[in-house]
Amino acid sequence: MYYNNLIGNGSDYTDGAGVRVFVARAYSYEEADIRPVLEALAEAAGGWDVVAPPGRPALVKPNLMAAREPARAVTTHPAFIGVLATILRERGREVIVGDSPAGAVRGIKRVWENTGAAAAARAAGVPLVSFEASGSVTRRVNSRFIDEIRVARVCDEAAVIGVAKLKTHFLTTLTGAVKNCLGIIPGLAKAELHRRAPHPEDFSELLVDLIPALAPTFTFVDGVVGLEGDGPASGDAREFNVVVAGDNVAAVDVVLARMLGFAPEDVLTVKLSIERGLAPADPEVVWVGEGYAELVFGDVAAPGSLWLRHLPRPLLRFAGRQFVIRPAVVADRCDGCEQCVASCPVGAARLSGDVASIDPAKCIQCLCCCETCAAEAIRLKPLRVARLYYGIRDLNRRRRRRRS
Ligand code: SF4
Ligand code: SF4
Repeated sequence: MYYNNLIGNGSDYTDGAGVRVFVARAYSYEEADIRPVLEALAEAAGGWDVVAPPGRPALVKPNLMAAREPARAVTTHPAFIGVLATILRERGREVIVGDSPAGAVRGIKRVWENTGAAAAARAAGVPLVSFEASGSVTRRVNSRFIDEIRVARVCDEAAVIGVAKLKTHFLTTLTGAVKNCLGIIPGLAKAELHRRAPHPEDFSELLVDLIPALAPTFTFVDGVVGLEGDGPASGDAREFNVVVAGDNVAAVDVVLARMLGFAPEDVLTVKLSIERGLAPADPEVVWVGEGYAELVFGDVAAPGSLWLRHLPRPLLRFAGRQFVIRPAVVADRCDGCEQCVASCPVGAARLSGDVASIDPAKCIQCLCCCETCAAEAIRLKPLRVARLYYGIRDLNRRRRRRRS
């Protein structure tokens, strides 16, 4: 049994000493572009033996959130999976590829096919593994919400290499390296975490609690084309042209948040990681290849929920009622597959006849159903004054884009 890189082992990283995050530019998903970038990032980090220690299988763990095609930019691009698997095989590693997205319970094969992961793995000559079928083991968690978590057995035996996707997220503001760790938890246990910690602040705390138990050996973040706006599924594709990497998922997210123009207070997982000493407030950024002193995207479309993060809880309860975005089913797109019903942690999604519906009184806005719906039949619907607020915000954003 191997645990991966347990960064929460008591080290005090708060002065930033020794924690490095590697950043490179990449302008397309062609192998000729991606391969030298991954090679250079690995070399800067100490070589492939640091990324994927020899002597155990290397498990490439992308973010395959939903059965969407790569152009939607909600999942790790298959080029990262194929190129990374090929490089590792060339270095003599036994390579496997896997992830447990929200929709895995009823259709992991459709996720593999639609995201391009199946074709990438086939081309690289490596197997895809279902975490649901691999069995699981228990790991202890130091958290006020849970005491233990099940992780896929195959992840316990391998060096896990995260290949996250750079996206904004309605619930957690950012989804990068830390949130990608959740995918080694098989099946519905992920949804259960939302039920245990339904408030965004609590859920972010739980995500940070889980870092020591779930952190991979090394993580690459696919930010060539990421997602901005109301991610993780409903945002807009955006070319960031960056690949970020490191062995400390919390520090990688500190750098990603800064790049997207978010303060630590905007991304509660980042704020808490720094407070707990899991990541320095200012990690050393190592530019690999073409570099800049600083790279901050000043005009990233933040999720509509961002400003709510700064309200005290009692006010939040009131504002939340006015500004919340609720998931709603678009009936003529729904094919009655019941993925949303299976993934909903509180029983708010159900099938009425052949079409799903969502009970707003029960819904905790965890967005598991949106992530899992391959038919894209669940849309985020703003309520009341929120429509006006988001309308003005989008108008201003379009104006800024036209000017720049
Ligand atoms: S909304 Fe319809 S299509 Fe989408 S997951 Fe639910 S049942 Fe399936
Ligand atoms: S209906 Fe969707 S957003 Fe609401 S609680 Fe269920 S899975 Fe979460």
